[in-house]
Amino acid sequence: MNFMAGALAGTALPVRTATVVYSRVPQEERAQRQPEYEKLAAALRAIGIEFLEVESIYDRYEEDDDTRLLREAPGDLIFIGWHYPRALKWILARQGLDVNGRARALHCLDAREEEPAVLAERVKKILAGSASAVVTAPPKSPSTSDGLTPRQRGDLAEQALPNPENAKLSARWYPVVDYDACTNCMECLDFCLFGVYGVDAGGTLRVTNQDECRSDCPACARVCPVGAIVFPKYVTNVAIAGGQDDGDRGSLKLDLSKIFGKPKARHQAALERDRELLKAGRKPPSADEVEKLTDAFDQVDL
Ligand code: SF4
Ligand code: SF4
Repeated sequence: MNFMAGALAGTALPVRTATVVYSRVPQEERAQRQPEYEKLAAALRAIGIEFLEVESIYDRYEEDDDTRLLREAPGDLIFIGWHYPRALKWILARQGLDVNGRARALHCLDAREEEPAVLAERVKKILAGSASAVVTAPPKSPSTSDGLTPRQRGDLAEQALPNPENAKLSARWYPVVDYDACTNCMECLDFCLFGVYGVDAGGTLRVTNQDECRSDCPACARVCPVGAIVFPKYVTNVAIAGGQDDGDRGSLKLDLSKIFGKPKARHQAALERDRELLKAGRKPPSADEVEKLTDAFDQVDL
């Protein structure tokens, strides 16, 4: 059990049924970010906000005690974690929370995004009902000032980088699907050859074998036509990590002339997937085999 305290807003705040939850820093980032964690905890307490503490939410399982208690926590949820808000929302969905429910609101805050005192004040306002951090569906194909979508810009940025070391120290590594964006097209299911994706009884795409996902492989995120696949711990591409990349935070200054002509996203994805197949001692499929696999899936009656 990892809850430190169970409480609602402090006495100075209007009464509102809400639970503030604060996720611990993921293990692999603890050496760097633990002081930030402590500062925000102190800032929350300094203005009378108590909170429940849970282990790094991405690394937990749905059946763990703390995720179960999260599902049972009373009232609205104000969740503070170490990923982009969109990623947090869909991680929590993965943990069995009703993230778009009408019964209670889910507010998601990225602890990295603001100074601790500012963030604590934001939480206070949310508790008071005068602010919101509910994550709603993003606008379709948002473009950055250079005319590229965040996903395209991130893909280009990565091609200019040496092989990133995203998941090396990560306890877990799996895709999180943003069902506000997913169109159920099954491209990801066709593409992944590790059996990570499946469908439920209603024919909806699901991440059925999340721990079969290969660490450091974000390939299917590049293949998804609507950018619905998020890898919250992916460090070199803000869009894949669930951020919007407004060209300010986390983005790279690009010299596009140096990277045009490199493999496009789908090709890059195939290279990444095939690299993982080789690492697993399996032979990458030929183009013909991929086509046959896709055709076979398309003929399955869902
Ligand atoms: S394609 Fe790669 S990243 Fe996507 S689910 Fe399969 S193994 Fe994981
Ligand atoms: S490729 Fe994207 S949109 Fe299509 S089913 Fe997968 S997650 Fe959904």
